Amino acid sequence: MEKPLTLQTAIKYFSDEQTCIETVASMRWPNGVECVACGHKEHYYLKTQKRWKCKECYKQFSVKVNTIFEDSPLGLDKWLIALWMLVNCKNGISSYEVGRDLGISQKSAWFMLHRLRLALKEGSLMKLGGGSATPCEADETFIGGKVKNMHRSRRMKLESQKVVGLKNETKTIIAGVLDRKKGKVRAEVVGDRKQNTLDMVIRNHVKLGSVVYTDNHVGYDNLRSRFAHESINKEVEGYIKGKVHTQGIENFWSLLKRGIGGTYVAVEPFHLSRYLDEQVFRFNNRMDAMGNKMNDADRFNTALSQIAGKRLTFAEVTGKVGESAAF
Ligand SMILES: [Zn+2]
Repeated sequence: MEKPLTLQTAIKYFSDEQTCIETVASMRWPNGVECVACGHKEHYYLKTQKRWKCKECYKQFSVKVNTIFEDSPLGLDKWLIALWMLVNCKNGISSYEVGRDLGISQKSAWFMLHRLRLALKEGSLMKLGGGSATPCEADETFIGGKVKNMHRSRRMKLESQKVVGLKNETKTIIAGVLDRKKGKVRAEVVGDRKQNTLDMVIRNHVKLGSVVYTDNHVGYDNLRSRFAHESINKEVEGYIKGKVHTQGIENFWSLLKRGIGGTYVAVEPFHLSRYLDEQVFRFNNRMDAMGNKMNDADRFNTALSQIAGKRLTFAEVTGKVGESAAF
């Protein structure tokens, strides 16, 4: 079947599960399928199970393992059509439209679009974390300023957006994850610190089964169902309990806050979100792959190549270019 050029033909094209698997595999492993456990490049393909089996370590793996698709009950056909719609709709797309077109609930569609947008921003379908040697730290922080120092019109605007909370302060919550081995951060502006919200952030960014360290905030109590979760009670146990601590992500929070600086009064969530993305990019690109410090020119080039990589990916998914993708 020819590669699709329109939404209608894409729906037809991706209705075949094997085609979806091959499409994601070529985005994920542009130089050929690699074992997710040992990196070996020789394997059997188990057709009926639609999985690969490594000839070296015998581990079996599907194309979804360790990617943003791994814990979703929705099929790759739905994910790829949602991605198609997201990258090809010039005027933006709503979760209602996607839900209707894919025959799924608006809530499921919202979840897919949210996760796909994060992946596009990050330039990667891959999650953080992994085995016990690559633990992640998760934490949240508040960013906020005193309302009384603010111009009245600004305060009214924030109040109407329900940004201004109790105690007459504006506070925006940011939840984030740091991969200790890779030294990479992912962070999002969130509406609250409840279990569902924090679960969602961690599931968006961390491979299932990874080791995750947090403090003892109740919002993390549910993590043990999907991750190897360990927590520290700072009031009782201090800031570090062997490997269990959140010093890495807290270091990122303090860099973030220092960046906002003393002039900061209040940032609307929308702008804070953009500012946060910039800071995450800077943090994640402070070192190159060899562990050398990156300068502004290096970071600029990385940003450019990520953007270029994304364009290639769009082209790959839309079938317009046969080149490999840096997705
Ligand atoms: Zn292997």
